[in-house]
Amino acid sequence: MKSEASEMRWMSTSTATLLEEVYRRLTPLWPDAHPLLHYHSCFELLIAVILSAQTTDEQVNMVTEELFGRFPTAGKLALADIAEIERIIHPVGFFHVKARHIIDTAKALEERFGGNIPPTLEEMLELPGVGRKTANLVASACHEVPGIIVDTHVLRVLVRLGVCPKKDAALAESIVRANLSHEKHTQFSYSVNRHGKFTCTARKPACTQAGRSCPLSDLCPQIGVKR
Ligand code: SF4
Repeated sequence: MKSEASEMRWMSTSTATLLEEVYRRLTPLWPDAHPLLHYHSCFELLIAVILSAQTTDEQVNMVTEELFGRFPTAGKLALADIAEIERIIHPVGFFHVKARHIIDTAKALEERFGGNIPPTLEEMLELPGVGRKTANLVASACHEVPGIIVDTHVLRVLVRLGVCPKKDAALAESIVRANLSHEKHTQFSYSVNRHGKFTCTARKPACTQAGRSCPLSDLCPQIGVKR
């Protein structure tokens, strides 16, 4: 966990006001504060989020039906043949390393947590292939702990808004943590995610397209947006 002093250096009245306004405008538009990944348990969610690195939720949902049908628990996945896992998850990319990560994670869950998801963010971060985005997402969904989930969409929007000076997910998380109240973190993350996924898209943000509008346009310096 980041120290209070290191978080405080990112505190800024103007950033706090901007984040509060982004939250106020976007959360009514995107009230569905939940992952778009398909899952039936916290174990399945954890595995699905690990698989989602460098690919889309839709692509992950296409492979997890078979994966979780064959291996519905940490105990079963821990004993899986890696070649079979690689075959199933091949479409999500980086399938060699992701297969190894999910099997090793399943083994760690079995050995250290009785097949369950770790109770703390710190313990989740010790699992193979689990970074801060994954840990925050799973902790917020499974333990109802407010989490700042900085994925590619959230990071893009925060950079374009001028909230974060560079594409650095850890820095973006620190800035949001320092400037937006704790209980708003999860809802903020999901609404900014949806805004980035459907409005402030990577190649054609709404503000560059005729006939489309963005609810944040009067707040946004549109940093790095190409026309
Ligand atoms: S104004 Fe453009 S760059 Fe800024 S948030 Fe909206 S769509 Fe994204």
